[in-house]
Amino acid sequence: MVVQTQVLTPYQVKRYSRHIIMGQVGSIGQRKLLDAKVLIVGAGGLGSPISIYLTLAGVGAIGVVDFDTVDVTNLQRQILHFNDDVGKPKVDSARETLLAYNPDVNVIAHEEPLTSANAMEIMAPYDIIINGADNFPARYLVNDAAYISNKPLVDGSILLFDGMASVFLPGQGCYRCLFPTPPPPGEVPSCAEAGVLGMLPGMVGTIQATETVKLIMGIGKSLSGRLLLIDALDMDFRTVKLRRNPECPLCGDNPTIHELIDYELFCGVPAVAV
Ligand SMILES: [Zn+2]
Repeated sequence: MVVQTQVLTPYQVKRYSRHIIMGQVGSIGQRKLLDAKVLIVGAGGLGSPISIYLTLAGVGAIGVVDFDTVDVTNLQRQILHFNDDVGKPKVDSARETLLAYNPDVNVIAHEEPLTSANAMEIMAPYDIIINGADNFPARYLVNDAAYISNKPLVDGSILLFDGMASVFLPGQGCYRCLFPTPPPPGEVPSCAEAGVLGMLPGMVGTIQATETVKLIMGIGKSLSGRLLLIDALDMDFRTVKLRRNPECPLCGDNPTIHELIDYELFCGVPAVAV
């Protein structure tokens, strides 16, 4: 047990009072949030509500990885970015918005694509990895790198009216236990190809932020071992049990993946050939 030596300032006690007065949080829980370091992959639809709520909660260090610029088509759902941000790097727009919400947090911008070459180094300083990636190569890369780094992964994905969320704790299953290999190119459309309801990333991202603060504070029952499926068209929420798959190529009993691979190549060829 780590002894917390730093106390909350009077301003922090006031600012976070609605958390602190909750028995499950208290000043110890708030201190854990202030001391936490989380990495959000993607400053888009999911990354927006995730980063905003974690900023408001006072999560001390929030890393954001994105190499894109703000496009007008993002504004239908990506609440980090405003009209005047179109054309700006998303990490810059994200940092401005987050610091405007709460200057108490440290926003670390990683303006580069996450790749097999840099993922381990970028993830190293963080306690928890949060997946807001919008494409299969990044999704598998984040999964593999979080597992190899031995860090919890708070996962989420969205398309059309459907969302999914889960938590993968090291050694207790991973995304590949569910989907060992990506679908063949073109089989599952992207949000750019098929569209996504603007509020859906808000729903799923808020669930990811909730799971993240629970992990940080060590409270409640996480989505680890469960997959939450959301159908916003019917407004149906259900969870299915997830178990570590002994056949998983990454975290199974006889894994075949021991290091990061070329994910573009991996996702660009039919699954059977991998
Ligand atoms: Zn696995």
